[in-house]
Amino acid sequence: MSASLDSTTVDARADGAVGTAAQELGELCVLLKLGEIVLKGSNRHLFERRLQNNIRAAAKGLPEFRLSQRKGIIMLRMPGASDLEVAQLAERMRNVMGIVWVHLVRRVAKDVDTVTQVAVQAMADRSGSFAVRARRRDKRFPMISSELAGHVGAAIKRAYPHLTVNLSQPDHTVQIEVDKDEVFVFTDGIPGQGGLPVGMSGRGLVLLSGGIDSPVAAYRMMRRGLRLDFLHFSGMPFTGPESIYKAYSLVRQLDRFQNGSRLYVVPFGKAQQQLRNSGAERLQIVAQRRLMLKTAEALADRLNASALVTGDALGQVSSQTLANITALDDAVDLPILRPLIGMDKTEIMDQARAIGTLTISELPDEDCCTMLTPRQVETAAKIADLRQIEKRLDVEELAEHLASNVQLHRPSFLGEEENTAA
Ligand code: ATP
Ligand code: MG
Repeated sequence: MSASLDSTTVDARADGAVGTAAQELGELCVLLKLGEIVLKGSNRHLFERRLQNNIRAAAKGLPEFRLSQRKGIIMLRMPGASDLEVAQLAERMRNVMGIVWVHLVRRVAKDVDTVTQVAVQAMADRSGSFAVRARRRDKRFPMISSELAGHVGAAIKRAYPHLTVNLSQPDHTVQIEVDKDEVFVFTDGIPGQGGLPVGMSGRGLVLLSGGIDSPVAAYRMMRRGLRLDFLHFSGMPFTGPESIYKAYSLVRQLDRFQNGSRLYVVPFGKAQQQLRNSGAERLQIVAQRRLMLKTAEALADRLNASALVTGDALGQVSSQTLANITALDDAVDLPILRPLIGMDKTEIMDQARAIGTLTISELPDEDCCTMLTPRQVETAAKIADLRQIEKRLDVEELAEHLASNVQLHRPSFLGEEENTAA
């Protein structure tokens, strides 16, 4: 319920009270609760391994930690690290797909008095109501869960008489989990991203404009386990490089969720002009989009990506009518995933805000699509007409040419940026 990490434990460090206090309170660790991954039956260990690798990649640059996997949870311990460093590790875990909850927990000995003392500490400086929830993974512990919860609850009440007990809708929940060798005590956690670990569903290539929609589409597919590469078409040499800067910042932002992202940029202006010169007229926009998709398909082949991703939403703009979407699907053999197809613009904007891409998308740029836009846009493009235009141009060869002249960038959220020509 709380949107931030447990402030009590983190503040303890800010006060400089780490050393002895940490020992008294128990070691601060990160407890991750997993979601769907636990449902995956016999494949579970493959998913677990993928998630563990992603966790390690997301923790790059932080002190070393030990990871232990148990059913439905992962424990991260950083012995010797400061509370602040442990909190930073927890913060990174918020972006790792496949994790449902992130908790900063105190790891304490399996002793009722110690557990009680740590639980009382955890509730210092709180107001309102609370509940204690206990569960035992180890049934040999001397108290059953309800007894333990009652015992700890009574101690908290004695220590802070102003707190009230509310078992159905508490302001704060103290959780006690009795494991095989230790007990974890913690209060409210922060929600993770949920979904599936990135990479588990394979690889995709997302067509990333500078707009609001495609970054959200990328996020949603990463959350379903796709590892993504990004492809941006700029209007260069007829526009400035602004849209490339935007694409770069967007990928950097999205890189939080997968690490190691690659952005491919295609200067598309001349190809757009060729389409116009071959008489595309009202079909200019759809013809451009088909050429983008064909180029993406050629690049996907090199990158081993088995799907394309776009930010299309049904009926949002004229190129996204059902007839035009059908004409787009006709351009390539690869499946085109459109996770936003049934979403309203306001819903998409809310999600863009939540993942931190909205303010970047709203920066001004010269979108390549607004260049050479015909006065009237065809809303019911005929595939035969499009193919006719493409034949005049030898569009397949053009797509191959564009795909082999991409520029590669590596926008990284965690640093170590490098630009290389592909
Ligand atoms: P967006 O907000 O993502 O720009 P949009 O609502 O502006 O989407 P369109 O301009 O029709 O809609 O584009 C639909 C989709 O086509 C985009 O979501 C994106 O996947 C792809 N696309 C459009 N322009 C580009 C571009 N310049 N580079 C890469 N992909 C593009
Ligand atoms: Mg756009």
